[in-house]
Amino acid sequence: MTNKELADLLLPNVDSDITKYENMYPERNLDEKAIVTRFAPSPTGFVHMGSLFQSFISRKAASDTNGVFFLRVEDTDQKRLVENSVKGIVDDLKNFEIDIDEGMINEEEEKGAYGPYIQSKRKEIYQSFVKYLLEQGKAYPCFCSAEEIEETRLLQEKRKQRIGYYGRFAKCRKLTPEQIKEKVEAGESYIIRLKSHGDFEHKIKAHDLIKGALEFPENDLDVVILKTDGLPTYHFAHLVDDHLMRTTHVIRGDEWLSSLPLHLQLFETFGFKTPKYAHISPIMKEENGIKRKLSKRKDPEAAVSFYHEKGIPVEAVKLYLMTLANTNFEQWYDCNKDKTLNDFPFDFKKMSSSGGLFDVEKLMNISKNYISRLSAKQVYDGLVAWAKVHDEEFYQTLIANPEYATSVFNIEREQKKPRKDYSCYSDIRELSWYMFPDLYDKHDKEYVFQTISDKQEIANVLTLYMEKYYHEEDTKEEWFDHMKDLAQELGYAREVKEYKENPDAYKGHIGDISLVLRIVLTTKSMTPDLYDIMRLLGKDTIFERYHSWIEGNQ
Ligand code: GLU
Repeated sequence: MTNKELADLLLPNVDSDITKYENMYPERNLDEKAIVTRFAPSPTGFVHMGSLFQSFISRKAASDTNGVFFLRVEDTDQKRLVENSVKGIVDDLKNFEIDIDEGMINEEEEKGAYGPYIQSKRKEIYQSFVKYLLEQGKAYPCFCSAEEIEETRLLQEKRKQRIGYYGRFAKCRKLTPEQIKEKVEAGESYIIRLKSHGDFEHKIKAHDLIKGALEFPENDLDVVILKTDGLPTYHFAHLVDDHLMRTTHVIRGDEWLSSLPLHLQLFETFGFKTPKYAHISPIMKEENGIKRKLSKRKDPEAAVSFYHEKGIPVEAVKLYLMTLANTNFEQWYDCNKDKTLNDFPFDFKKMSSSGGLFDVEKLMNISKNYISRLSAKQVYDGLVAWAKVHDEEFYQTLIANPEYATSVFNIEREQKKPRKDYSCYSDIRELSWYMFPDLYDKHDKEYVFQTISDKQEIANVLTLYMEKYYHEEDTKEEWFDHMKDLAQELGYAREVKEYKENPDAYKGHIGDISLVLRIVLTTKSMTPDLYDIMRLLGKDTIFERYHSWIEGNQ
């Protein structure tokens, strides 16, 4: 029986003409340096930080080189499928503004000329490649049961030998065509294995874009390439897909590093050009001085929902991811304040081969700086989008008067040293509710006075301010002069300096007076510019709050 006859017996209705696919998916017509890469998740749920990081880098590498970034869904493990998970993945990428050039766009549809982009729809293609290998005598059927494989494993363990289906442990490799025929005709079920030509004693060299030069023993495992359900294993699908989709760079988690010798062998077996590999180390976290992998279970920041709930702007998350990805990014960004992430040239060589350390505090700091550089309108728009999903009440307040809300966020913004009190959108309500009368009315008010805490004295300050020194049309300078006059009239120094030089001559200084006016108006001892706050709130609101405090504290 020839290999061809054997192949026909094993995969009867499959066409082994793989050149057909070579023609269907021609080399891409791109610049020589263009990176074609992909994000290839299993549809087991949502994207987490590690895979977000990976897709972010892949997108960036493709964009920097006018290449292509596509989304391929790897659902060959039908046991692990989760309903609607393609949508989850697509939405997660969209929410982080990681655009795909090709690939799945929802559960059913896709875009691009190199599809299908979901592996379960590529069965025919994989089988064609498997049949081609069978015809070449480079693959064979294996009839071993799970029990037999387990027995071999136990034996290998006992003898302290390498685990796996190789050499003399590869029982079915030795079956004659006649024996195979007999088993097939008897209805025995089988899988297809690669007939590895490797020698474990032989060392091969490989290069990884992140890890550098590597050396491995050559693969000699006869790995499964086609399972009983007719679908390929990851290894074989990787070969077929990344070859036909003309992937130039495989950027993936370093849990796949140990499979690299096998993957290189598969490409070699077919005579296909190998892609370049970049194996990303997992994101790490330091806890009590001990480094460990960022964990979906233990670390809330490992879930992408964390960023949405907190309202950290997407761009800030990306800036942080880039600091994790390339150690030189932060300095570059500091020196290029007018530039954006798009202008930064990503470099695989500058990636940590041991894994970046995730630091939420640093992320929040980056976000704070990022928000401080936004215009009031941008803050308003970002906040509205966030509140729409996460804080309905605030959302209604914001959209009721966009102009007013924007002015609130414009206090001490759009200037050389802008305010830096918002780390994320979820901070803003707590830091600004007193500017919105409807929120103010509903909010609990607790006043913690400092230097002036005597109720009568506080009432004196408020009363005199309203009666004599509040002038609606005051410029900032005039207002400040009036504040000084108020201080003076009540026995406080006009300047802090004066007070410091002669503390016994005064009850306090101008700062104590303005603090009282600030606390009663806002309940807070720290706010942005009081003059701006007063201008926006207007006379009626100011007087109402002052009067009501006085009445409540008589
Ligand atoms: N489906 C594989 C995973 O989720 C993809 C690895 C790769 O990018 O090749 O780990």
